[in-house]
Amino acid sequence: MHMDHFAGFDRILRLLLNRTAELQIFGPPGLTDAVEAKLRSYTWNLLDETSEDFSIIAAEWNLKDELTRSRFKARNKFARDPLGVEALASRRLLMEPDFHVEAIELDHGIPCLAFAFQESLRVNVHKARLDGLDLPVGPWLTGVKQLVRSHADPGTIITIPGRRDMKLGDLLSAKVLVTGPGERICYATDLAFTEPNLSRLLALAEESDYLFIEGGFLDEDEDIAASRRHLTASQAGNIAAAARAARSVPMHFSPRYLGREQLLLDEFQKGLTAGLAIRFSG
Ligand SMILES: [Zn+2]
Repeated sequence: MHMDHFAGFDRILRLLLNRTAELQIFGPPGLTDAVEAKLRSYTWNLLDETSEDFSIIAAEWNLKDELTRSRFKARNKFARDPLGVEALASRRLLMEPDFHVEAIELDHGIPCLAFAFQESLRVNVHKARLDGLDLPVGPWLTGVKQLVRSHADPGTIITIPGRRDMKLGDLLSAKVLVTGPGERICYATDLAFTEPNLSRLLALAEESDYLFIEGGFLDEDEDIAASRRHLTASQAGNIAAAARAARSVPMHFSPRYLGREQLLLDEFQKGLTAGLAIRFSG
C-alpha cells in the first residue's frame, strides 16, 4: 500500500463508481483495512439502494493458504461486509475458466506481491481458412474461442450471422481455429535484489511470454536502489535473462531520471545481454 501504487485506487474508483460492476482487488495483509480507510474518506450521501450496483471485493492473502474476502457495496454506502475465508490449495488466487492468476510474496522491506496471469489455452483464428470457407469475421468468433477453451462438445451448434449454422467440430476439422499453449504474463514490483526474492521470482516468471519488472535506478545509484529495497535496471535485465522471458519490459522508473529514461532502458538491455550475475546485496 505504498502511495506510488495505492494512490491509483482513487482513479479506478472514480471510473467505475457509476457502473454495474464488481472490482476484485488482491493484496497482502492489511489490504482490507486500507480499502476501507480509502472508502471512508469520501462522503456518500448521494448513494442509496437505487444507485448503480457497483461493489469492491477486497481479497486479502495471508501469504500462506488463506484468502479473506470483504465486500464494499455502493448501494450500502461502501460499508464493510465480511464474506469469509477461503482455504487455498495453491498460490492461484483467482481461478477462471479461461485463465488463472498466481501470486508470490516478495520482500520490499514489507511484504509485496508479484503476479502471473496464465491463460489456459491460446486460440487463434486462421484468417485464410476462414476466408476459404467464406465465413465473416465478427463477435461470433469470440464465442467460438470460449467454447474451444472450455472443451465444448464438437456437436455444439454455432450461429453465424448471414450464413447457415455450423457445428463446432466442422470448424475445428477445417482448422479455422488454431490452438497452442496459453500465454503467461508476469508483473513484479517492488523488490530488493536478494537471493530469496530472485529464486521466487524466477520460478514465477520462468519462460513467460511477457515480464514487466521494476528497474528504476542506474548502476551509478546502486547503493540508493539497495537502500530503498529496489532493483537497478541492469539487475532487472539480469533477472529477465535468467527467467528466459520472451519479452521483458522495465518499468517503475525513479523520478530522478525524468527526461533520461533512455539511460535506464540502455542499462536494462545491457543486463539482459549479460545474463544473471550472482552478486546479492542482502
Ligand atoms: Zn513502488
